[in-house]
Order: sequence, then C-alpha cells, then structure tokens
Amino acid sequence: MNVVGHLINGEMVNDAARTQDVFNPATGKAEKQVALASKQTTEQAIAAAEAAFPEWRNTPAIKRARIMFRFKELLEANADTICKLIGEEHGKISHDAAGELQRGIENVEFACCAPELLKGEHSRNVGPGIDSWSEFQPLGVVAGITPFNFPAMVPMWMFPLALVCGNTFVLKPSERDPSSTMYIAQLLKEAGLPDGVMNVVNGDKESVDVLLTDERVKAVSFVGSTPIAEYIYATASANGKRCQALGGAKNHAIVMPDADMDNAVNQLLGAAFGSSGERCMALSVAVAVGDEAGDALVSKMQEAMSGLTVGAYSDATNDFGPVITAAHKEKVQGYISSAEKDGAAVVVDGRDPKVAGYEDGFFVGATLIDNVTPNMESYQAEIFGPVLQVVRVKTMEEAMKLINDHEYGNGTCIFTRDGEAARYFSDHIQVGMVGINVPLPVPVAYHSFGGWKRSLFGDLHAYGPDGVRFYTKRKTITQRWPSSGVREGVSMSFPS
Ligand code: NAD
Repeated sequence: MNVVGHLINGEMVNDAARTQDVFNPATGKAEKQVALASKQTTEQAIAAAEAAFPEWRNTPAIKRARIMFRFKELLEANADTICKLIGEEHGKISHDAAGELQRGIENVEFACCAPELLKGEHSRNVGPGIDSWSEFQPLGVVAGITPFNFPAMVPMWMFPLALVCGNTFVLKPSERDPSSTMYIAQLLKEAGLPDGVMNVVNGDKESVDVLLTDERVKAVSFVGSTPIAEYIYATASANGKRCQALGGAKNHAIVMPDADMDNAVNQLLGAAFGSSGERCMALSVAVAVGDEAGDALVSKMQEAMSGLTVGAYSDATNDFGPVITAAHKEKVQGYISSAEKDGAAVVVDGRDPKVAGYEDGFFVGATLIDNVTPNMESYQAEIFGPVLQVVRVKTMEEAMKLINDHEYGNGTCIFTRDGEAARYFSDHIQVGMVGINVPLPVPVAYHSFGGWKRSLFGDLHAYGPDGVRFYTKRKTITQRWPSSGVREGVSMSFPS
C-alpha cells in the first residue's frame, strides 16, 4: 500500500516505523497509509529548517516573492490533481475543493506582496540629526499544525506568508488526509524554493510535542479543535514560543422577521451543509426571531433540503460528500439522537442515507432539527456534520445573548433588511467574524482570520496583516552620524 512519508530538506523520507491508515471516506476503505514521524524524524526536519535559515533570511524579499509567484502558477496549473487528492481523502466534492484551493491561492497572492509588506516604518529627524526606523525581521524556524477539513487552504494560511517573511518552516498536516498537502509542498521545490526552507512531517502527538518543546522552533501556528488548541497554546507558550491556536466553533445565524426568507434559506443551505458541515465557519444554528419567522424558516428549509444530494466527490453534481471517518459519522449520528431524546424535533433526518454504490461510505445526510434549546448537549457541542439546529426566540436581544453566552466566538451572521439592527448586531456581538446577509464571512487574504473566546488562543489572527506581524519581530533602530569633530556633552537626564 502507498505510504505517504515526509518531506525533509527537499527529499522524501520514509520513516514508516509507525503508520496509520488513510481512508477514502466515500468507499469506507483504507486506500493508503501515512507515516507517523518519530521524535528523531521531527528533529531532523527542524534541523534542516534551522540550517536553511541564515541564507533564506538574507535572500531579498523580492526574490522570495518571485518564488511564491511561480508557486501560485504551479498551484493553478495542477489544480485538478490537488482537488482529486482532496476528494479521495477528505471526501469533498470537486467544486468545493476548487473553492478551498482558490482561497489558499489568494493567500499566496498576498504573500507575493512581501517587499511591500516588509518595508517597515521610518521617521527622519526624531531628534537633532537622528533618524529612526522599525524593521520586521524573521523569527527563524516556525511550525504549523493543521486540521483535516481544509488540507490545502489552512496550510496556505500559514507557510506562504511565513516563508516570504524570511522564516523557514516545518508543517505537520492532518494525518487523516495528508496527500494534497504533501503534493502542494512538493510544488514549492519546483517553484525554486531552496531545500530545507519548507519541510513537512506527517504524524500525530509524538511529532507535535517535539515541535512544541524544541527550542529551535520559535513560533507555532495551529488550527484544529478547541481542546487541542488549548493544549498547543499552553505548551508552546510555556516553552517560550510565540503561538496562535485557532480552535472550534458553533456559528449562529440570526433570522430576523423582516429577512428575505427565500434568500436566507438558500444561504443557509450552503453554509450549513456544504462540505458536510465540516467547516469551522459552517452555520450550525439558525436562531429564528418570532414564531412566524421560525415556522417559515423550517418549512422552507425542509422543502429546499429535499433537493440536496450527498455522494462521492467524483460526481460534481453532488452537493456534499461523506464525513471524514466512521467514528465521526457515529458521533454526528449520536448528536442527532441526543437532540431527539432531549425533546427537539428531527424534521429532516439524515442519520442513515442510502448512497448507491457507496454502501460502506461515511455518509450523513442533511439534517434539520427544530425546537432546540441551549441546555441540550447537541446545542453546546460543535457537531461538525451536516446538521442545522433551529432555536426559536422572541427578540433579537435574546438571540444575541444566546450567541454572546456561547463558549465559541468564531463566526456569525444576521439575515435582515434593517440596517439599524444589522449595525447594532455587528457592534455588540462577541464574535470575531461577522456577516450581514453573508453566511460565511471568511475574511479575504488581505484581512485576517480569527475568532474570539474559545475559538482562538493568542493575540494575532491568522494570515493578512496579523500574519505578517505574527511571523516577524519588530526591531527599532535609532541612528545618528555626528559631524566629524563634533562631540556631545554628558547628559544624565532621560533623552527627550
Ligand atoms: P484536531 O484538533 O483533531 O487536529 C488538528 C491537528 O492537531 C492535527 O494535525 C492533529 O494531528 C493534531 N492533534 C490531534 N490531537 C492531538 C494531540 N492530542 N496532541 C497534539 N496534536 C494533536 O482537529 P481536526 O479534527 O483535524 O479538525 C477539525 C477541527 O478544527 C474542528 O474543531 C474545527 O472547528 C477546527 N477548525 C478550526 C478552524 C479555525 O480557523 N478556527 C479552521 C478549520 C478547522
């Protein structure tokens, strides 16, 4: 069976002492294996990145950007291969994989602006004959640890910007769908990136713990579930590293009584069920304000959902694919059952869909649950499946309180025609990314991405301007060149 190895110092390395199956979630079969890096292999990757740093750091930013530009062209030229690899291991349909890849490429395009992004700040004559400037220097070896649900895009939130800022990188992708990430990393070599600048180790906790504790690693970017994000942040910080750890989510959409209901339903379909709900920005709760809005929403959703098809990635007419593993399928089914047991109404039940020809696949159909209340386990947990829960409230204040009280604060959205209500909502809601009639308000590459509360541990958001700050450290230089023969007198007071 094909074993996906590691990319260290420009070479594929196969430390396959420990391996794990990689499944095709549509067939339910293990079609590949992934090597799980040992401590020694991970240290080898860190050593390669450390050795490559001095030369890469001194490479002019424009040359680093040119490599990124060639990389962007290679990503576009090889898009079909990348999307197929994503489909085979993640299960998402080709149109959805293409969207993910495009959002990743936009981060590469932003990274191509490196010379502009790294220009720094300059002030002339801050004192008599004294000039001062701040420059943004690279950190050294930085690490990225990424989740299964965006194997192409999320790594590209990290390494393009880290690299153009002059750092070298060790990436630890998800062990569940490693092939598209590895393929992408190999394109960097083809784009002209020197060996050792970008390294990939596949693995699990054993390799992650090395990245969190090895003193040669200066910063860690993480994206994944909240319990792991919390562990990563605590461990990396305790080991003196800069860390940003993005966690899980429970994203609510408020549906106001004045909303264009047909539009809201269309938007909710994609945002709740696209990619099987396995998106950290998926809308998993619709909060209907008033009974009329609640009744209209549920009946229109029910009707619209009858047209959705779940199936294999290879058929582009399918709306969404399977969930990632058999265990995850069971977990999602369990949350639907627990909502039912707790008294909610399962209006559309996707627990056991029939997908002809893919009977062993990890499929869950689109599910709609009405009359969910905040005390239910299914409301509190991040289900991460194609399940939309409807909570009914009387007022917008009640809806906002629900969102503000939830432990997660990644994304949210309001559907309304009332500009004043929308403005009040965006001003007061305790969530990092807000949509107004926009269901998936994922910031573009030249803004930054991040949630609030237990959806992000750390100060700086991912990519965009915050990404540049995260991957550089500021140095401020103050300079005077006295005219020859001129000597300053002694002053014991603080310079002003
Ligand atoms: P996960 O937390 O299980 O895994 C993420 C990474 O952490 C993987 O590389 C994995 O190998 C590693 N890991 C897992 N357990 C570990 C442990 N005990 N010690 C050290 N490392 C460990 O997440 P996942 O299931 O791959 O991804 C889904 C989760 O990611 C969801 O919660 C989703 O909301 C979240 N996510 C968040 C964002 C965001 O931007 N906030 C984006 C995408 C996904």
